[in-house]
This record gives sequence, structure tokens and C-alpha cells, in this order.
Amino acid sequence: MNLQCSVHDVSLNAYEKCVEIARNLWWSWHPEVVEIFSLLNTKRWRELGHNPIALLNEFTPEEFEQRVLELTLQARIDAAFRRFKNYVSQRPIWARQNAGVLGSRPVAYFSLEFGIHESLPIYSGGLGVLAGDHVKSCSGLGVPLVAIGLFYEKGYFRQQIDANGNQIEHYITTEVENVPFESVEDKDGNRITVTVDTKDGSIQAKVRRVMVGRTPLYLLDTDVEGNSQEDRELTNALYGGDSRTRIRQELVCGVGGVKALRALGITPGVLHLNEGHNSFATLEAIRQKMEDCGMSFDDAARDVAQQTVFTTHTPVAAGHDYFEKGLVEQTLEPLYTSLGLSLDQFMALGRRNPNDDSEKFCMTILGMKLSRYANGVSNLHGVVTRRMWHCLWPDKREEEVPIGHITNGVHVPSWMAPQVKDLLERRVPGWQEESIDPKVWAGVYNVDPGELWETHFALKKRLVDFARRKLGRQLERSGADSAALDAAKHILDPNALTIGFARRFAEYKRAFLVVQDEERFDQIVNNPERPVQFIFAGKAHPADNIGKDVINRLIRVQRNPRFANRVVFIEDYDINVARHLVQGVDVWLNNPRRPLEASGTSGQKAVLNGALNFSILDGWWAEGYDGYNGFAIGTGKTHTDVRKMDENDNAALLETLENVVIPTYYNRNEHGLPIEWIRLMMNSIATLAWRFSSHRMVADYVNHAYLPAAGGTSVHMYRG
Ligand SMILES: *Cc1c(COP(=O)(O)O)cnc(C)c1O
Repeated sequence: MNLQCSVHDVSLNAYEKCVEIARNLWWSWHPEVVEIFSLLNTKRWRELGHNPIALLNEFTPEEFEQRVLELTLQARIDAAFRRFKNYVSQRPIWARQNAGVLGSRPVAYFSLEFGIHESLPIYSGGLGVLAGDHVKSCSGLGVPLVAIGLFYEKGYFRQQIDANGNQIEHYITTEVENVPFESVEDKDGNRITVTVDTKDGSIQAKVRRVMVGRTPLYLLDTDVEGNSQEDRELTNALYGGDSRTRIRQELVCGVGGVKALRALGITPGVLHLNEGHNSFATLEAIRQKMEDCGMSFDDAARDVAQQTVFTTHTPVAAGHDYFEKGLVEQTLEPLYTSLGLSLDQFMALGRRNPNDDSEKFCMTILGMKLSRYANGVSNLHGVVTRRMWHCLWPDKREEEVPIGHITNGVHVPSWMAPQVKDLLERRVPGWQEESIDPKVWAGVYNVDPGELWETHFALKKRLVDFARRKLGRQLERSGADSAALDAAKHILDPNALTIGFARRFAEYKRAFLVVQDEERFDQIVNNPERPVQFIFAGKAHPADNIGKDVINRLIRVQRNPRFANRVVFIEDYDINVARHLVQGVDVWLNNPRRPLEASGTSGQKAVLNGALNFSILDGWWAEGYDGYNGFAIGTGKTHTDVRKMDENDNAALLETLENVVIPTYYNRNEHGLPIEWIRLMMNSIATLAWRFSSHRMVADYVNHAYLPAAGGTSVHMYRG
């Protein structure tokens, strides 16, 4: 921090300090700061969706000072402000030692969604939350990176469950003035807008910036005067509209994003494409290279590929974008013409077989062809991805296909409950939440088992309160009678084994698997000595009728008097709901059809809070599970017949639940402590937390992908 700045800061009052803190999303992973906002007015804090700018706007500076006096918050605000200022003015040692080469040429990280905090709803699920955690860890480690995405004023849909148990989708418009946007200007002080051309005319987008700690996130927004009505609405909603909307959004994000960087005077050393959605970014980078250096397309494409990192996230076919030739022509004709390519030459870049005119244009293939470093997101997903895309390297053996893997991780400070953090700070010498050193995390064994259990139990009670509150509001809205409202106040028992299941309701995730056989389910959950309760949450994509049907079946189970106190569905799964769930449950259940879960990250969040994973050996769990740090469903075998696979997995799930999970949980010592269970909790934290953290993940990207891409050396990631 320079002197001028600190002299100035001293003169700020508490209100001004809070406003400054609220204008950088840094606050969102600092519970001591969140607590300040929440204390100011807990009820409004909740009602405003945890948005500090909206909250601060409700106070006059005088009222605010009064409130700070009442609550004696001054010292805490001063401390938070100092911490914030120190944070943003420093470059961490890690980056100075490990990422020096990136220097003034940062990584440009493109993603169609970013899940940073529930108050900035521009994410739908795992992909976005992963991107958010990636950005936060780059901030934490000091990795020079700028993130690029779209600002969706209406975000992703919000979910309600109606009286018939059906999912209702609606959209809430984000008040732009409550988002901590900074104005983005070029060197002459002009607001930056970029223009992308299509055959139907040009689309303009303005560029906004939010700061995520030290890392800038640039968001493009086409709601600009001068655009047609259609284009003004182009970035309204995430995954809304048809494939025309989609390809145009991807054009704006990828091509517009690269143009925005140039307008900002940022020259990236690496392009990182988070999923195929952003593969068009490479085309604009190639175009710029051809123009600047007078290169041919082939030479420029080779250079751009050398500096491009491509991450693919799903083995599910529907997860990859395919566009019709006509739509490609309509949208990209000006761009491929400027690259000196014909439509057919361009289509070939997005096809398995370049000459097969019946093939659509695949964004993943474009990304693979125009990058030298491609990776899946877990060890197993790497294997599956090499098999899936072997066709692009027909003369290589499958294990030589140049696609590696870097396993996903989660941002520890964002997902670990403050109570757990306090406990580890107090009991583990030298413990640091951001450490990726296994020795540091092994310190968890020093914690007193009783104290760990108490901490966990307090968090579980908090989850039960949260579920009751949410359910109460759901019922009020749907006009339930007072008996039902009363029942909701007492639903769930904090002493019962509590299992959480929350994720997108895609078919392969099989949310219904555990309740498939209602008789057996009844026997398990309603055992009076060893009760078990389930909390579900998750959205089905608006076009996914199978997923919606699963939600409806679950709601009917919840409303069945037999399961009245044993099954709760919490609507509108978002980061806030996820945080409560992963911090409060005993067990985190995941039962996808193997190997369709590329990684999964919610179970990693559960680890940080002492919940035990109970999962199919798929995604990250296939490499995380060691026999002593959670529970496996099945043995990692799969069946080609989906019905058989579901049957087998259902049987394995219930058997392990009945014979291992439940008895271990209810096996108490003379002090009422489940000693064996607590040992598993410690094993889980000690062996998994550091390994599946996003700091470890980002360090891997730096070492295996970013540095080689920036330095032009090649590595064989798939061996690493
Ligand atoms: C972490 C998270 C996800 C991803 O969880 P999976 O394990 O990949 O299903 C999805 N949605 C939200 C809101 C999350 O916080």
C-alpha cells in the first residue's frame, strides 16, 4: 500500500469503508466481513439476497454511523478494511516464485458462466461455480489472469415448486446499480464497447468489470442503444433462447471478449477456454495475428493454438454445442471471410471428418483443433475424453491422444464454514485455509473428537433451521393451511443421520435412485432407533422433461405422509443453498451413471466441513476414495445396459447404507460420540481437502498448462 493511499484511507468513515469493501467481491469469501453486513440488518440482508450494496443503500450515512455505534462495529470494520487494502495491494509470493513468466501477459480465461456469489446470478451450476472458484484461487495465489464472460441481467431461471409438485421457472432482473461494476475505459477515457459482425449485421456490446479480489472479471452486455431489439436481449438470460441465441452469445463472448482485451490494452499470453462455448475466441486471436504480423491463416492458427488451453467438462453428448451449417454461415460469414476461409473450409474446423458435409459444427472440436493443451477434469474423465475424441487423432493409439487431465477443486475459504475454520485455527498449529500442503491438513488429527463433533452438530442445526425457514416460505406462498405451516416449523431432526443430495436434475445424476423402492426406503428412513432423513435440492433445465419429472416424483415422496419428516426438497438450488447443505449434512450422496460425472465438485465442498462422501466411484471420487475417508457405492464396475446398471447401483447403494453407513453413524461410545465416524471425518479432511482445493487445481494449470503455453514449450500432460 502506498503512503498516499493510507493517509487517504484513515480519513474514511465506517460507511465509506463498507462501501469500498462492498465494491470488490473479495468480501464474499470472508465470513467476518459477511457477518458485519448481516449484523447491520439480518432480515434485510436475507431479503436482499446477501447483496451488500443494496443493503448499504438502505442507510443514510447518519443512520449507518448510529447503527455502528449501537453494535460497536467500528473496530471490526476498521480491521476488515485494513485486511482488504492489504490484500489488494500485495502480490503473493506463490505467483512471484511460480508464475513469473506470465508477468505482464496474463491468462485470458473465457467462460459462459461464473458462480462467485449468489448476489451475482450469472451461473447455472457446476461449470459456473468452478469458474468462480478458479478466479478466486488465481486471486489468492496471485496468478495474472483476467476473466471474460457475459452479464446476464436476468441470470439463470429461479425455481419454485407449485401445488402439484411441478417446477415453475421464473426470472428476476438483477438491479445493475447493485452490482459492483466499475466503469471500463480505454486510454483516452472513452467507455469501451466492442462490435462483432454477423451476416445479419453487427452486434455491439459494452464491457463491464467487477473485481474478484485481485482478479478482474470482464462481462460483456449487449443491452446497448443502437442494437436491434433482438440483440439488446441477447445477453438477457443464461441458456435461454434457441441455438441462434446460443451461437450469437458465444460469438459475443469469444470474439467480443478478445476484442475487448485489445481495446483495454491487455495482451494475453495464454487463452484458456473453459468448455467449448468459447472456442470462437481463438478465431479472433488468429485474425488479429494475421492482420498484425501479415501471417497466413495456417501460421497464425499454429501460433494461437500454441498459447491456447482448452478444458472440456462433460462426456454427455448434450453438453457439447453443435450448430447447423446455415446458422454458422449466417453468424460467422464475416469472420471466416476475414480469415480467408470458405464456408466449407471453416466447417471442417468443427468436424470429426472434415469432408463429411452432413456433420454439424462442433464447438468442442474447434476448441480441440485450435489448442495444443486440452484436458478433462478428473483422472477418469481424462481416460473417457481420450476415448471420446480418439477420432480426431486416428493415427495415434488411444492412450496417446494428447488430452490430459487436471482434477477440479473448490475454493476453501468460500466453502468451509467459519465455525470449522475457527476450530482448525484454534487447534491446529500452523494451519492455513489456503494451504495445499498435506502436512498442514494432517493437523486435523490434533482436534479433539468431541469438539469436532460439536462443531459439526451446530452446523447441522443451522441447516435444519434453514430448511424449516425455506420450507415455511414455500408453503406460505402456495397457500398451505396453518397445520402444514406448523409442521414445517418442526420438520427434520438434528439428531438423525442427515443425507444431502443436491445437483442439476440431469437424468444421468439419478436423483431418484435412493427412493426407487419405496417399501425398502420406508424401512430404512423410518427405523425408530436409527432414523435417516434426506434433503434434496436441484433444478432441471427448462427443456429437460425427464429431469422435471424426477423432481415431481421426489415432491410426491416428500408429500407422502409416510415420509413426512424424512424427505425435504428445498427449492431454488443456488450457491447459498449449496453452502448451507454442504456445511450441515452428515453425508453427501452422489450416484451418477458412471462414467458420466466428469468430476463433480459439491462433494469436495462437503469434505471441508466434515461431511462424508457416499458416492459412485465416478469423477473426482474415483481418485479421492481410499477406503478410509468416506463410502463408495459399488466397485467402479459399469453395465452397458442402463436398466441393469441402475438396478445394480440401487442395490449397492442401499446395502452400503444399511450395513455400513447407518451402523457406523449410530455406533456411539459412553460419551455419546460416534468415534469411528469422527475418525472418518478426520481422514476425509486430512486426505482430500488440500488435494481437491482450487488452489491445487490452479497451481496445476499454471505448471502443466499456462507456463508451457506462455513459453511455447510442450508437455505431455496426460502422463503427469
Ligand atoms: C458446487 C455446485 C454445483 C456443482 O456440483 P456437482 O457436484 O458438480 O453436481 C452445482 N450447483 C451449485 C449451486 C453448486 O454450488
